[in-house]
Amino acid sequence: MADNFRVRFAPSPTGALHIGGVRTALYNYLLAKQKGGAFILRIEDTDQTRYVDGAEKYILESLAWCGLTPDESPEHGGVFGPYRQSERKGIYQKYAEQLVESGNAYYAFDSAEALQAKRDEYEAAKKTFKYDSSVRMEMDNSLTMTEDEIKDRLKQGNYPIRLKVPKNETITIEDEVRGMVSFESNELDDKIIMKADGMPTYHLANIVDDHLMEISHVIRGEEWLPSTAHHVLLYRFLDWEDTMPKFAHLPLILKPTGKGKLSKRDGAKFGFPVFPLAWEGAKAEDAFDGFREFGFLPEALINFLAFLGWNPGTEQEIFSLEGLVEAFDLEKIGKSGARFNIEKGTWFNQQYLIATPDAQLAKMVRPIIEAQGHQPSDAFLEEFVGLMKERVTRLPEFWDKGYYFFDKVKEYEQKPIKKKWKPNMRPHFDALVEVLKNIEPFDAPTVETKVKAFIQDNELRMGDILQIFRVAISGTLKGPDVFKMAALLGKTEVLERFKLGYTYFDELKAVS
Ligand code: GLU
Repeated sequence: MADNFRVRFAPSPTGALHIGGVRTALYNYLLAKQKGGAFILRIEDTDQTRYVDGAEKYILESLAWCGLTPDESPEHGGVFGPYRQSERKGIYQKYAEQLVESGNAYYAFDSAEALQAKRDEYEAAKKTFKYDSSVRMEMDNSLTMTEDEIKDRLKQGNYPIRLKVPKNETITIEDEVRGMVSFESNELDDKIIMKADGMPTYHLANIVDDHLMEISHVIRGEEWLPSTAHHVLLYRFLDWEDTMPKFAHLPLILKPTGKGKLSKRDGAKFGFPVFPLAWEGAKAEDAFDGFREFGFLPEALINFLAFLGWNPGTEQEIFSLEGLVEAFDLEKIGKSGARFNIEKGTWFNQQYLIATPDAQLAKMVRPIIEAQGHQPSDAFLEEFVGLMKERVTRLPEFWDKGYYFFDKVKEYEQKPIKKKWKPNMRPHFDALVEVLKNIEPFDAPTVETKVKAFIQDNELRMGDILQIFRVAISGTLKGPDVFKMAALLGKTEVLERFKLGYTYFDELKAVS
């Protein structure tokens, strides 16, 4: 094994990067930083049919937003570059040929029709056709043809190379997360390692690059575990077994219901994003929001994702990226799937919103408020976010739940009006307006003192007056401290709202 701790995140640019991919990148990053090693980004774009324009850019932007900066990448290079497999095309052919020469791979010349005929034959017998050790000697390939025939077919080109999986062997992988995992070679197909178009498949390119880039640990999603049996064979056949990386397969991220893997489509189904950033998509129906647009802070998303499959074994839940680097431990990664619990995610986000200094938070909230046509001063916005941050879980909620700091009240909660807006109280409510008019300075402590004194002097109940006060200025009982709210709105605005509110309350009472 290589001396250095070198890990890679190796996404294929086939669309937006799923949140599970971000978690894989995160775990790789954390371990690399902890061990003083390198975190490498390698773009696995050998499958031209699945290539999606813009996907690589999306991956780079997502990692940047999350703060997971690679040490070596297509963007910034490194000594083991290039880091985009399509630019390494010339490297792989030699290894494929070497495997053929050593008798561990073969040329497969089967025509599309012949393969289809086999599939049909198997289907008729209610079986699935697999190109493997049980059928390879019945097929048109360099194992079954004469040398002349082979030469002739090679000249015609357009043939893939398949891995010759040995018969009757148990292949055992020592996985850092799952322990010993075994596969029966007779169950494995003879995977194509080099396609007819001259491009390597994932399996070959991945192994060659991991070897050449001196990767020490392969940390990836559990869905790649079955492929690992083929990978182990490739390491052996290429004579690289002594430097083979260690494998760690991460548990699946499960749907909120706990049943089945969290899929790309689950976002739309459950009403939360499953991607870090918004994605335009080729068609309108492919477009979706990401956690950024949903109003998550990247630090919160990272903290949340870290806990999907790992926990520190203590009560501590809030970890900065640096804190995670210190606390993370491969041995504490769970084997069973991790349920994607969005409520937990929003809880994390709220903790981060609360912990963010108001001035910084105001900068994040400004675009949301400006998009609604308001240009508040910095001082106003800072005060506003300070008042609201314990009441929201995501950034857009600052507007949804606190719009009345900028706009007139659009809707009044009915219950407190029906209960408290009584004819015998009306003189007191009018007197309250007079009290407010005379408060100077109109700051929170003075408003509080004066209004409370008024309530006491008139032997009224706090709730009877203050609920009407609240509803008049904000429309809701759920807002922040009523006196702070009033002070921020200012005397003129508060008096205006009392006027509008009282008119509405009267009308409501008249009809009910
Ligand atoms: N290109 C594979 C993917 O898209 C990489 C899997 C691996 O890490 O080996 O996830």
